[in-house]
Amino acid sequence: MEVVIDREAGFCFGVVSAIEACERQLRQDGSLYCIGDIVHNSKEVERLKALGLRIIDKDELNMLGGCKVMIRAHGEPPSTYELAEKRGVEIIDATCPIVLKLQRDVRQGYERMKRVGGQVVIFGKQGHAEVVGLMGQTEDKAIVVSSEEDLEMIDFNRPVHLFSQTTKNKEDFVRIVGLIRERMKAADNEAGLFVTDSICRRVSSRSRTLLEFADKVCALLFVSGRQSSNGTYLYSLCRQHKKETYFISSKEDIDFSLLKDCDIVGISGATSTPMWLMEEIRDYVLATFEAD
Ligand code: SF4
Repeated sequence: MEVVIDREAGFCFGVVSAIEACERQLRQDGSLYCIGDIVHNSKEVERLKALGLRIIDKDELNMLGGCKVMIRAHGEPPSTYELAEKRGVEIIDATCPIVLKLQRDVRQGYERMKRVGGQVVIFGKQGHAEVVGLMGQTEDKAIVVSSEEDLEMIDFNRPVHLFSQTTKNKEDFVRIVGLIRERMKAADNEAGLFVTDSICRRVSSRSRTLLEFADKVCALLFVSGRQSSNGTYLYSLCRQHKKETYFISSKEDIDFSLLKDCDIVGISGATSTPMWLMEEIRDYVLATFEAD
């Protein structure tokens, strides 16, 4: 049996630079706070915690002072920066440059919509850290939609500027754009629709490379944290394409009975899955089969 790792898998550059910044601070100071999990992968979070990282929530930020707090790649709303300043906390800002640009675009879109009596709409997951950061650019006035039912919240007689969370999938975004356009047209207001496709190219190109990789293997172990929206999306896409795709978060989740007739097992993962974890899983699968 052969076990191969998808070389296109692993952290995106936004997550890599956040982790590098985190490791640098930990080497220098021995400890660092981070608001929320630095990456949606519990194995990687555990590794960094062992080096001195402490994960906090917003309420805990309000109790700190005279220390350093990291903002992860997902970004934060302006209120977090204000609170940190008030508490005398130094921010280590690891917001991904793509998310930073999107925050700026949403802020400008909101200012424009305010002037023309319009609405900012974000296609994303309510409560997701990146969406919370984007909402903060609009004084929390943006409308978050994740399905067709949510479109009821939009007033189609007024202008709409639509953005997307960076990790949403392209097909769903295109479908939502189509539905909104139809309703704006019905309200004789199609010219009032502005669309910014803000899906991260790293995420959209991953769909294609993942399916190409899946075609080359007999079964595919898809490694991801269960909270990763990018992981959940890529897994379901791959599973539809190849039914021998199995979601695992660690080597303990592997059901070897599903792999016993395979000649090539593939290992892939989300943009938040560390390469070391996929290598560990590859070695474990090989060792288990060699021992049989
Ligand atoms: S998925 Fe894209 S936007 Fe999100 S952190 Fe990675 S590079 Fe940045």
